[in-house]
Amino acid sequence: ENGRQHKHVVMLPFMAQGHMIPFLALARQIEQRTGYAITIATTPINAVYLRSSISSSTTTTTTTIRVVELPFCSADHGLPPNTENTEALPNHHIMTLFRASQTLEPSFHNLVSTITEKYGEPPLCIIADVFFGWSVDVAMRFGSFHVGFTTCGGYGTAAYISLWLNLPHRHTDSDDFTVPGFPETCRFLRSQLNPTLRSADGTDPWSTVFRRELQLSLRSNGFLCNTVEEMETFGLEALRAVTGIPVWPIGPLQPPAFLNLPCTTDSNLSSSRSVKKHGIAPENCIKWLDYHPPGSVLYISFGSQNTINPTQMMELAMGVEASGKAFIWVVRPPVGFDINGEFKAEWLPEGFEERVTESRRGLVVRTWAPQLEILSHKSTGAFLSHCGWNSSLESLSQGVPIIGWPLVAEQAYNSKMMEEEMGVCVELARGPDSRVLSEEVERVIELVMGEGEKGKEMKMKASEAAKKIRAAVREGDQLGSSVKALDDFLQTALSKRHENADEAMT
Ligand code: UDP
Repeated sequence: ENGRQHKHVVMLPFMAQGHMIPFLALARQIEQRTGYAITIATTPINAVYLRSSISSSTTTTTTTIRVVELPFCSADHGLPPNTENTEALPNHHIMTLFRASQTLEPSFHNLVSTITEKYGEPPLCIIADVFFGWSVDVAMRFGSFHVGFTTCGGYGTAAYISLWLNLPHRHTDSDDFTVPGFPETCRFLRSQLNPTLRSADGTDPWSTVFRRELQLSLRSNGFLCNTVEEMETFGLEALRAVTGIPVWPIGPLQPPAFLNLPCTTDSNLSSSRSVKKHGIAPENCIKWLDYHPPGSVLYISFGSQNTINPTQMMELAMGVEASGKAFIWVVRPPVGFDINGEFKAEWLPEGFEERVTESRRGLVVRTWAPQLEILSHKSTGAFLSHCGWNSSLESLSQGVPIIGWPLVAEQAYNSKMMEEEMGVCVELARGPDSRVLSEEVERVIELVMGEGEKGKEMKMKASEAAKKIRAAVREGDQLGSSVKALDDFLQTALSKRHENADEAMT
């Protein structure tokens, strides 16, 4: 069919690295499976970032993924100059970004209109971040299929949406409560909610934006979710109950090389996921890990945007040192300092870095480490993580159990799910304010990495998760569930868009 190239998928990610990266990975998968034309629309500065991500990871093959600039519709969107994503913005400006992003609708309408004219038919499908619920209206106007894409897992997305829409903690004085869509026995805690959500009353600015966009997003034809059906059965059940629309689990959106899949491009390097950052060279990390016995090293990282407070950092360092375990720690300046700024030795106990470096006990990495290379190395035995969804999936795909220290967003729900439902995580601390003692750090490291039953059981369960994840992306005779889900989603889009188109006509 000559229309193959004419089929067009338009994608609209939220302006944060943690959203744009999975969108780009999804674009690659769709391109590879269908050859359809793909357009990613984002604001000018983020377009530059996305284009450089594409070109730095695609050296041998040409790509049909196009990035187009979506200008803000008015100059007085309130964002400081040259700051169009969450990484570049101070926290108090994030709301400005959400508000500004709500004004993108006319630009987006124009883009879809241009594509429709050029190709003689509307885009087959619009895949939009769940924060851009307004894009459902645009899809309806043109008769395109529309799906919301949540870059989080099933459980995390379900909890996040249901909590914002229902605010169940407002209806009780109790410290624990149930969340609509989840079984009665699954209790959530007030301390697992972000401060903005904890104090939300439905009329504050955050409630207004989130509730509006999430509600609008639920009118999509379905949701795509970066997870695996067999691994997240419980979470996906909750997500289906909360949304009431089809959910296609199509994850993990991860470089193929780390899933034992053949590589068709050079995109196997995790460095391609982080063009802006510079830390230690992967080969130096690997060399260091090679020196250590299997399963003996603890990897510590709080992701790309978060950090802990100065007291917590001291206690963590003392606990890690006292545990006697080898470790790689990606350090970032603590809360109260520029997270991208220079790291000062005074934030760690006196002589800490010299001691651990000299004895080869520890590798202190500044700012950024090749995470997937580290997690896939046989010497890595556990991951002390903020439970960001990408980090969680990456760790489980390599069979590495997790010591949880969730900080913001839906991370506490991820940690809860991995501890209660999967048994692959033990939560050490929660949030950037909690009191953490070095003895507790030491105890949990021993629990997870020591010789005891708990550690062995966690390792076994993490290995089971890794098997499920790898099976889900299998190609060939025994097509994996995530590959099937992606095919099924595209097939549904093809057959249903005519229905949407009919509706658009009438
Ligand atoms: N990452 C990395 N090196 C680091 C820190 C993070 O490669 O030193 C990558 C990590 O592999 C993951 C992403 O950055 O793909 C972090 O995403 P996640 O959802 O875990 O957390 P976020 O940074 O969005 O809070």
